[in-house]
Amino acid sequence: MSIAVNLKNIRNQIASLCQQQKRSINKVTLVAVSKRKPVADISEAMKAGQVDFGENYLQEALEKIAYFNRQNLPTSPIWHYIGSIQSNKTRKIAEHFAWVHTVDSFKIAKRLSEQRPTELPPINICLQVNIDDDANKSGLAASRDELLALCQQIQSLPQVKLRGLMCIPMLTDDKTVTATSFAKMQTLLAFLNTHDLALDTLSMGMSDDMDIAIANGATMVRVGSAIFGARD
Ligand SMILES: *Cc1c(COP(=O)(O)O)cnc(C)c1O
Repeated sequence: MSIAVNLKNIRNQIASLCQQQKRSINKVTLVAVSKRKPVADISEAMKAGQVDFGENYLQEALEKIAYFNRQNLPTSPIWHYIGSIQSNKTRKIAEHFAWVHTVDSFKIAKRLSEQRPTELPPINICLQVNIDDDANKSGLAASRDELLALCQQIQSLPQVKLRGLMCIPMLTDDKTVTATSFAKMQTLLAFLNTHDLALDTLSMGMSDDMDIAIANGATMVRVGSAIFGARD
């Protein structure tokens, strides 16, 4: 199936899920995850109206971003960094992305703030939470008090805008397990917002669990293979 058709199907799915829950459809942003896919695929998605794109591998992403900058398009893509972050990568991320979903320490947030060019608006960030306490996954412990302290510390940074939380739940075929993880994220966000943090973003849900994520309050879904096909 073509990328345009896939996108249309996913947008329809998002619309009907929102409708079922009486949520407004513009509260859920679709981030098309284009990692390991060529710029031709991204162009095709853009022609079908897709604006937000997620990338995991910095070098690959920088080449794609440079390519689209050279095109001088009337609307440029909005780039989301969703890969793991080492300290030595923060400068390039701060210079070239609008969003970072995978911040997991004050140190990384501080570097992003310091390295964000002042002529750009603050970079939007989400804190990655290791919601299932999975030893193999990165992300912050799902302790509400620790997260609150970190959010309050990050709020003082001038060039980052803290938007919310992100997670990748553990791999399982049991949809109730996944639903429980997403529900915990929704509860965490609600708790943080009782402390005046005004967080508006829950980045969760991928090709296989987008529906469960939206049912549990996701405001950004990161969908790759369901749009672009399987990755090799
Ligand atoms: C690859 C990836 C996605 C997209 O996964 P699909 O299963 O292809 O939809 C979403 N989020 C993150 C963090 C990823 O690494």
